Amino acid sequence: MTFSIHGLPVARGIAIGRAVIVASSRVDVAHYFIEPLEVDREIERLRVARNQVIDELTRLQQSLSTMKAKDAPQELVALLDVHLMLLGDEDLIGGVKQWIVNRLYNAEWALTAQLEVVSRQFDEMEDDYLRERKVDLEQIAERVLRAMKGSPSPLAPPLPPRDARVASRQELLLDDTIDVPLILIAHDLSPADMLQFKKSVFAGFATDVGGKTSHTAIVARSMDIPAVVGARSASQLVRQDDWVIIDGDAGIVIVDPSAIILAEYGFKQRQFEVERQRLTRLRHTPAVTLDDKKIELLANIESPEDTSAAVNAGAVGVGLFRSEFLFMGRKGKLPDEEEQYLAYRQAVDGMQGLPVTIRTVDVGADKPLDKGGDRERSGREDHHLNPALGLRAIRWSLADPAMFLTQLRAILRAAAFGQVNLLFPMLGNAKEIQQTLGLLQQARTELDERGVAHGPVRLGAMIEVPAAALTLPLFVKHFDFLSIGTNDLIQYTLAIDRADESVAHLYDPLHPAVLRLVADTIATCQASGKSVSVCGEMAGDVALTRLLLGLGLRSFSMHPAQILAVKQQVLRSDTSKLAAWAQAVLLSEDPATLLSS
Ligand code: PEP
Ligand code: MG
Repeated sequence: MTFSIHGLPVARGIAIGRAVIVASSRVDVAHYFIEPLEVDREIERLRVARNQVIDELTRLQQSLSTMKAKDAPQELVALLDVHLMLLGDEDLIGGVKQWIVNRLYNAEWALTAQLEVVSRQFDEMEDDYLRERKVDLEQIAERVLRAMKGSPSPLAPPLPPRDARVASRQELLLDDTIDVPLILIAHDLSPADMLQFKKSVFAGFATDVGGKTSHTAIVARSMDIPAVVGARSASQLVRQDDWVIIDGDAGIVIVDPSAIILAEYGFKQRQFEVERQRLTRLRHTPAVTLDDKKIELLANIESPEDTSAAVNAGAVGVGLFRSEFLFMGRKGKLPDEEEQYLAYRQAVDGMQGLPVTIRTVDVGADKPLDKGGDRERSGREDHHLNPALGLRAIRWSLADPAMFLTQLRAILRAAAFGQVNLLFPMLGNAKEIQQTLGLLQQARTELDERGVAHGPVRLGAMIEVPAAALTLPLFVKHFDFLSIGTNDLIQYTLAIDRADESVAHLYDPLHPAVLRLVADTIATCQASGKSVSVCGEMAGDVALTRLLLGLGLRSFSMHPAQILAVKQQVLRSDTSKLAAWAQAVLLSEDPATLLSS
């Protein structure tokens, strides 16, 4: 039966395919695709782990049987019987194998996928006793997962690109579902998980939680596949292999669509593709308004590899390299100076002479580092009562000068090979500015003392807390350029957690207070001859392009996938006519109404 789940649209387009549920588990489960040749090895890992757990439980059972009958806890004896029976259930294990063979899931993923299928069957049982056996099932699955953790498995390799993946699936020809696009459905995905899924086989995805500008949504947008977040119970309601449609424009997940709905969405999907193709013609067209104002369209990237998408989209530089993604998914082991230098250098080389703005690490809040390794040893916690207001971004860097200096040296070294702008996140007061600039000077001195080449950098501050937006002269005095991080500026101005879908309806880029801070920042920079850009999600929202142009903005930084659509808006705009209208919007109590009129 067809039903739909409403969430928040985060990345445009329509995806139609079969659901892949990534279940959350108490055990950390890696999700990756294996190569066809690795199927046997993966089944063997499963077999070894299952046998290991059977051995453990059998030994436990034997030790219980040697106890005096009265001392042996009878419930435990009965429980072990049930667990051993479940472990021996060929249907369960056969089901897991099917996911490995037909879908090329790694063994852990296959086990959690099958667990989810069987759990639902248990949920539907009438008999209370049998229904409660689901807990046992979860416990043995957890034991097997833990056993597999100890078994040799290659580290999860990055997922192969979509096209390559389809090719190897075609070689397999295991069943007729093999070429069907896959849609990822999860309760939540951390930004680090998202990186893992980036450029993978998935044609679309939906999560239960997350706000429109949560970092998970931001990485999703950069994947350029239709996506919906905050779809509440999607991971509960959708089942493995269900047909689903992701409508990334409306923020809807349609489950088990009828033939008529499928046809309708198939049509929409083709229309979207035609529109996208049409936009590619603008790639080499300069972004100039009707009244001849040159507009700078820059790219936001998360990794050096993203520079190719930036260049392909016609970006004239990188306006925001979110360097923290180099620090994630590494079990807390931070990249050293050389590794970071190579990554920044790769980004600089990738942009082929165009400027690259590298933002220093912005972890914390909804971008936690993994547990373990360096972070744990140094006693730094990533989870606090109120993480968005806690030790994140520049605060995190200033709290660990050695780590910060390492990053600064790496960026300065990369700057010897191209035009690099250095951008600092979330600065809020004069002391932080002073400390930051002091450490930058120290990093230069350290490189000089080591005789290592480094280059000049333009210095920028992000305006993303109201405190900064209300003390602009301080920032203009110390920095060459400002970059407005509207995602955080909105979060902190309106006191709305950007990652919390329950307050997503209050997250409002058009709130008069937000517009006032954005407008003042642009005007102050213009008056003092400093450049200013917007690098938050507002920059890539075509509905806001004219307003930002009217407020005087001439530099926008966004995901590469959004550049051509924004360019189209720029080409159709006349800033001389927009200025007065933008001032009216700014003064309005209800800017949204004026914007749509
Ligand atoms: C912002 O806050 O607008 C921004 C660009 O930074 P991030 O989204 O990475 O916090
Ligand atoms: Mg920010």
